[in-house]
Amino acid sequence: MSRFFSAKYKDLTPYVPGEQPQDKRYIKLNTNESPFPPSEKARAYAAEAAAKLQLYPDPDCRELTAAMAKTLGVLPENVVMTNGSDEALYFATLAFCDEKCPAAFPDVTYGFYPVFAALAGVPYEEIPVRDDLSIDPDDFKTNRRTLFLANPNAPTGLCLPLSVMESIVAANPDRVVVVDEAYIDFGGQSAVPLIGKYDNLLVVGTFSKSRSLAGARLGYAVGQKALIADLQTMRCSTNPYNVNRMTMAAGLGALADEAYTRANCQTIVENRAFAAAELRKLGFTVTNSAANFLFARHAAIGGEELYLKLKEKGVLVRHFKLERIKDYNRITVGTKEQMQALICAVKEILEV
Ligand code: PMP
Repeated sequence: MSRFFSAKYKDLTPYVPGEQPQDKRYIKLNTNESPFPPSEKARAYAAEAAAKLQLYPDPDCRELTAAMAKTLGVLPENVVMTNGSDEALYFATLAFCDEKCPAAFPDVTYGFYPVFAALAGVPYEEIPVRDDLSIDPDDFKTNRRTLFLANPNAPTGLCLPLSVMESIVAANPDRVVVVDEAYIDFGGQSAVPLIGKYDNLLVVGTFSKSRSLAGARLGYAVGQKALIADLQTMRCSTNPYNVNRMTMAAGLGALADEAYTRANCQTIVENRAFAAAELRKLGFTVTNSAANFLFARHAAIGGEELYLKLKEKGVLVRHFKLERIKDYNRITVGTKEQMQALICAVKEILEV
């Protein structure tokens, strides 16, 4: 820390992203990326856009916003495009939380929520999940706090039905409920169709998972016009060119190729079922994940030990040191071959 660093950030602990090691080739199952390349259209459109990189991108992101709105069945005024969905989550924290209106989220969830709250200087509450790691919806019905709920949740993969999500939104009429749907395309029902009914519902999504564009950094938020206008205020006060020209083009290409996205999601769902069944046969407890990852623990080996042994064998998974989930590993669902390699490595480690 330099002697110039503002005292207001002295206790800030930055988010730690999953490892992106360069030392050797791993079977990379640690950051929930897609194992499939972006659609050919996404790649071709981005390559074309590269020829115009001397020009700023459209600060209103009109073409992509319109295409996104059409895909979601809403109007362009209901959508804002962002630099990854992380940026949408940060803008929501800035816009909708303060001393009177703290942020709240489960104690086991996406690790960026508390970091955004701390950076924005707003108080936050962590609501314990049940022993089985599921969320008790009644804990989120106080109409007192701005809620951040990942659905499916990360890193558990557990998903609440849409009717339950709606009951939470309805029980917080004076607070914004941010539903983070980073993993919704792999299972579960999106809350987007509810935005017309609730002025306090903000749904956040990403192109990083089902659309294979993690490297492009593209996300979005969907809600009623007034909520989106607030996020636009944050965006234009931070970086009006938040979505770069090549990413915009890649996003348009991905949306023009939804059949490719759907087919990939279907493959991931099949591979998830295969890997979960194999892990259960080996004695793992595996949560009922609706996402593109599994969350698993084994009575015979600690979470960290398994993570380290898998890493030695060239298979990278994600281990969290958080006390409540330290026995688990989060394993991204990849190709069938990757899942077979994972199972082989696990068998060797367990000596079965
Ligand atoms: N929400 C959740 C629950 C996530 O797991 C992630 C991925 N790390 C994100 C949001 C952010 O994704 P991105 O910024 O790549 O859109």
